[in-house]
Amino acid sequence: MPLEAWIPGDFDPCDTCKEQGIAILEVGADDKPTRKAWVVREEFIKNVLDGSSNKELLDKVLKKRMCVMPEDVTKMLGIHDMVAENKQEAQEGEK
Ligand SMILES: [Zn+2]
Repeated sequence: MPLEAWIPGDFDPCDTCKEQGIAILEVGADDKPTRKAWVVREEFIKNVLDGSSNKELLDKVLKKRMCVMPEDVTKMLGIHDMVAENKQEAQEGEK
């Protein structure tokens, strides 16, 4: 998997997000933030990064509680779709 994720110095999730999971900040092809960010479960990040040889990165991400992912990776991982599913569930719950 051509996974790239890294940690910038100037993005720090709030305590609530850190408690809930790992924040993902999305960047476009030009490395500029797309202004999309998600909080995912720790297990999700572990599953994604465990397969890569980058154990050091996983440790850093878990410690910092956030990572940056290019848009093509978030799409490949289905994060955009997961959000759509969650929204649907939320709407059904409101009925
Ligand atoms: Zn937050």
